[in-house]
Amino acid sequence: MKINGTTIGLGENTRVNLNVYYLPTGAKMEIPVYVFRSKKKGPSVLFMAGMHGDETNGIEIMRNLLKEKYFEKLERGSVVAIPITNVVSFLNRSRELPDGRDLNRCFPGTRAGSLGSRIAYDLTKKIVPIIDMGVDFHTGGAEINNYPQVRCFFENEKSFDLARSFGAPFMLNSPYREKSLRKEASRFGKPILVYEAGESFRFSTVGITEGMNGCLRLMKNLKMLDVPTPKPTSITLQGSKWIRAKISGLFRTTKKFGTFVEKDQVIGTVSSPYADLEKQLIAPTDGFLIGINNKPVVNEGDALIHIGTE
Ligand SMILES: [Zn+2]
Repeated sequence: MKINGTTIGLGENTRVNLNVYYLPTGAKMEIPVYVFRSKKKGPSVLFMAGMHGDETNGIEIMRNLLKEKYFEKLERGSVVAIPITNVVSFLNRSRELPDGRDLNRCFPGTRAGSLGSRIAYDLTKKIVPIIDMGVDFHTGGAEINNYPQVRCFFENEKSFDLARSFGAPFMLNSPYREKSLRKEASRFGKPILVYEAGESFRFSTVGITEGMNGCLRLMKNLKMLDVPTPKPTSITLQGSKWIRAKISGLFRTTKKFGTFVEKDQVIGTVSSPYADLEKQLIAPTDGFLIGINNKPVVNEGDALIHIGTE
């Protein structure tokens, strides 16, 4: 296996730096990539976090996996681990790159393009060729909280199998997004799961635990690792629907996150702060609450509740 001119043989573990770039102060910025190779050949799996600089749950999942030294106990195959993919945005505490671009809409990228395009190019040219599959860790935003879920395109059998072996609480069918890493890697037949859990800049214990367990289950199913893992209870969701605010005001829901709601059930309310107007939110379909807007002040049209449908 070779990354950026460094050869990593079977039985070797190392750290390689990708995409060297200089900050305006002259400080060097690089993306650390950790590579763990068993003595025995086998699948090569990518685990990456921090594609968006404010999505800290994935970064914590990666830190826990590194700290517990799971990747150093591989019985076969290789792990390529990138704890923080978008280092400059992580330092800036922002989702986007300094020029406002979304790194996950810069793929496949070009060598001499924008900063995002250059990072995407390096990932496409240097990481995608050396992996067979991967998991890309994300979170909701500052407002939307996602219940732990993996997203993949069910029509792609390899992706669906990978999602099943990860075993997150929910598996959501999600068509490819143009210019995303997932779409780009799929062109080379390499399935990438997108794991979504929690909010930006807020640790979610359940999101971090489920993410770690998913990685361990995935490696166990690939016979790369022999560790005890909790049994998954995955619910398959064929689609999803957002419920939006009909009026502006104060929003609240009484339903428990991740639970099932029935069609026509009242699942929340939006009220005027002066107590003279109130609109109930009615579930348009049976489904599970997989995303909730945590900001109490909303404008009409704001996405409030994400319902996943079986
Ligand atoms: Zn993200």
